[in-house]
Amino acid sequence: IRSLSNAPLDSTKLKIISSTKPSKPKPNDQLVFGNTFTDHMLTIEWEAGKGWGTPEIKPYANLSLDPASCVFHYGFELFEGMKAYRTNDNKITMFRPDMNMKRMNKSAARICLPTFDSDELIKLIGKLIENDKHLVPEGKGYSLYIRPTMIGTTNTLGVSTPDKALLFVINSPVGPYYKTGFKAVKLEATDYATRAWPGGVGDKKLGANYAPCILPQLQAAERGYQQNLWLFGPEKNITEVGTMNAFFVFKDSKTGKKELVTAPLDGTILEGVTRDSILTLARERLDPKEWEINERYYTITEVEERAAKGELVEAFGSGTAAVVSPIKEIGWKGNDIQVPLLPGEQSGQLTKSVANWIADIQYGRETYDNWSRV
Ligand code: PMP
Repeated sequence: IRSLSNAPLDSTKLKIISSTKPSKPKPNDQLVFGNTFTDHMLTIEWEAGKGWGTPEIKPYANLSLDPASCVFHYGFELFEGMKAYRTNDNKITMFRPDMNMKRMNKSAARICLPTFDSDELIKLIGKLIENDKHLVPEGKGYSLYIRPTMIGTTNTLGVSTPDKALLFVINSPVGPYYKTGFKAVKLEATDYATRAWPGGVGDKKLGANYAPCILPQLQAAERGYQQNLWLFGPEKNITEVGTMNAFFVFKDSKTGKKELVTAPLDGTILEGVTRDSILTLARERLDPKEWEINERYYTITEVEERAAKGELVEAFGSGTAAVVSPIKEIGWKGNDIQVPLLPGEQSGQLTKSVANWIADIQYGRETYDNWSRV
């Protein structure tokens, strides 16, 4: 429990040190996801007993840290991934940043790093974007990927609560995940490695959750699959796909009713902002006479059985980077479960609709609630 006398995060204290050489935007076709960064970064130090220090926007540069910093030894690290879009009327808007800040605070609390006022960090990120606004790309599928990060910087090998932390934000202009429209992926249903488990931290965006998932991904890739479909438990529940939430569409062959399904938020599932957006829009826009929308447990066995009966309609992953990513095949126990695609296309019908619903809001062709923040 942090003392109330600690200084809160305060965006009005912002200091800006501008870069002397503003860079030129790269042509859109040269933007590789997460490889190019904007000219400035935001940093804010925190210290126990003092609270949050002066927020600074300054030229993008290396950090200097003591090798004993606890981030290097015990994984005191958490991050977020969100995006800002240049809208048709040339405003720059962040998509649901309040959701990312809420999740970031939950991640911080879980590993004893300091929490902060969400709205203050949104304002500071806004200033950072504004400072480099010439580098926010324009066009369908182009955006600015925003990476807020927090690390523990206490210099001791003792395993304990960090008494110093650094919050920083870097931004990367990015292009569409699939340059030539959708490309459906092949997944390997993975039960030989576990991404998250009850009582664990799979619902938090900790760096520690990500490094251990690369080896199973390489193993799946060796067998010709792009991503892991993460299963959990003896029932082989479907949880997530790679670093995305998973959605499946079934159609009951007796009643003709369709069902959009995703796993429930039981602590093993990252609380995806895209997941929440899709559920909200689907509940509002899909006709309840034709559709059921469920957050429930479902297994690879159900998918296999329903595919065999012709009841598997489509499947996709959801996340900030690609928004939706259609699935065409799932390798499981030596068989490949085929997921239908529209004839001659790389996705199913709902996958396509969902992608359009969200893009319309992100690019400002539609206003939805308070999802876009200028
Ligand atoms: N699951 C995992 C494990 C992730 O890393 C991400 C990406 N943040 C997601 C799901 C999707 O979340 P979001 O829609 O907020 O990007």
